[in-house]
Amino acid sequence: MATNSKQELLKRLPAVDSVLRAAAVQPLLQQYGQVTVTRAVRALLDSWRRLILQDQWSGTDLEQALADMPEALAQEVEAAVRPSLHPVINATGVLIHTNLGRSLLAAAAAQQIAQVASSYSTLEVNVQTGERGSRYSHVVQLLCELTGAEDALVVNNNAAAVLLTLAALTAGKEVVVSRGQLVEIGGSFRIPEVMAQSGSRLVEVGTTNKTHLFDYEQAIGPDTAALLKVHTSNYRLVGFTQEVAGRDLAALAHEHGLLAIEDLGSGVLIDLQRYGLIYEPTVQESVAAGMDVVTFSGDKLLGGPQAGIIVGRKDCIAKLKKHPLTRAFRIDKLTLAGLEATLRLYLDEETAVREIPTLRMLTIPIEELEVRAQQLVAATVGEVGSVAQLNVVPSWGQVGGGSLPGYDINSVAVAVLPQTISPDELERRLRLGQPAVFTRIYRDQVLIDMRTVQPQELPAIRSALCRALLGR
Ligand SMILES: *Cc1c(COP(=O)(O)O)cnc(C)c1O
Repeated sequence: MATNSKQELLKRLPAVDSVLRAAAVQPLLQQYGQVTVTRAVRALLDSWRRLILQDQWSGTDLEQALADMPEALAQEVEAAVRPSLHPVINATGVLIHTNLGRSLLAAAAAQQIAQVASSYSTLEVNVQTGERGSRYSHVVQLLCELTGAEDALVVNNNAAAVLLTLAALTAGKEVVVSRGQLVEIGGSFRIPEVMAQSGSRLVEVGTTNKTHLFDYEQAIGPDTAALLKVHTSNYRLVGFTQEVAGRDLAALAHEHGLLAIEDLGSGVLIDLQRYGLIYEPTVQESVAAGMDVVTFSGDKLLGGPQAGIIVGRKDCIAKLKKHPLTRAFRIDKLTLAGLEATLRLYLDEETAVREIPTLRMLTIPIEELEVRAQQLVAATVGEVGSVAQLNVVPSWGQVGGGSLPGYDINSVAVAVLPQTISPDELERRLRLGQPAVFTRIYRDQVLIDMRTVQPQELPAIRSALCRALLGR
């Protein structure tokens, strides 16, 4: 395109003021205000100017853009005011999806957070005396009752819980760990490195696949402070393997006057086998086995907010509370409110399984998922049947978040085979849509897994599919 016509096109770009005076723009101005809309107009005009300067636009393109301006402007404004961290629909079938925020909170927990957030609270006050109280008091009794432990402490996340435990109880001393349990969690949390950070010295025993009680026993020396058991929560050791049971490890530790510490990772409070799922060690079992300190996450299988929970012997917890890292890892009041509400639901297991989304999704009968999938297909096929094949197919979900590795949960998905665009393009459009729908691709089809979809999200998924497939 000649420079001349480029100049001509640039001259036809409207002035910001005239756009702001247009009748179609007035509702936007009323809703979002002068500053936001003006900024959006400038951004839109700048993007057009760039296209013209790069010779990518003809006069017809500009005509079309001018005609569509109110709509484009509305989209620009909405994108500008939308929080960067916003809700999405998880149709991946991965329950504790680390990238999508791990656990959803129960309604009671979300409510409690909202209430505490916008008002003063009893965070650190003893209501009886009016004197200063402890922020941990709100969950200690619940945690003791639910796990059978003597005392408890909560911090920011489980990584902090492990580091604090080792720093406060074993710094300058040796900690014996099985080679099969020197795990890495999520890239930056590696047991050997956490051990070093805590000032403790790691003593590895056994082999990758087998560690015996005598391996631990032989490693105990004058500098040993503790025996540590780490739940290999994100990988599974199968075949010719041997791990020492918590009970035996704790007994050995106590025989030698040492501490027995366990990092449980997920930390489930109910027996998942009762719901036809695979065995996952419970916190109660670790406490009953004699572990002096047990740490676990608040937002994995527990289904609460991000937190690190430490339960154990009173004297151990007292030492942790005095350590300076406890202040650095301090749990925030909103998390605490959500955690307390979540733990309260566990006082009655039936309530917990019904109300806590992670547990509910984990235990939904397959027939129910099948009904949801059929409903989605029935509601969608009329509109998009000519551009995509929709089928209800068996699928498999995963717990995710480094819990129950390699364990697939039966699920049901709607498989979408687009005819006019590639599966990758459909996946991309769904992910970039409003609301965003995260799916997975399997054998050239886009799978919308029902295990992690909430029933009330079905209409939004239906519209998202129509938009993505029909381009509107
Ligand atoms: C997940 C996990 C952690 C880290 O917990 P966060 O709550 O993510 O900090 C530590 N140890 C084990 C065994 C885990 O599975």
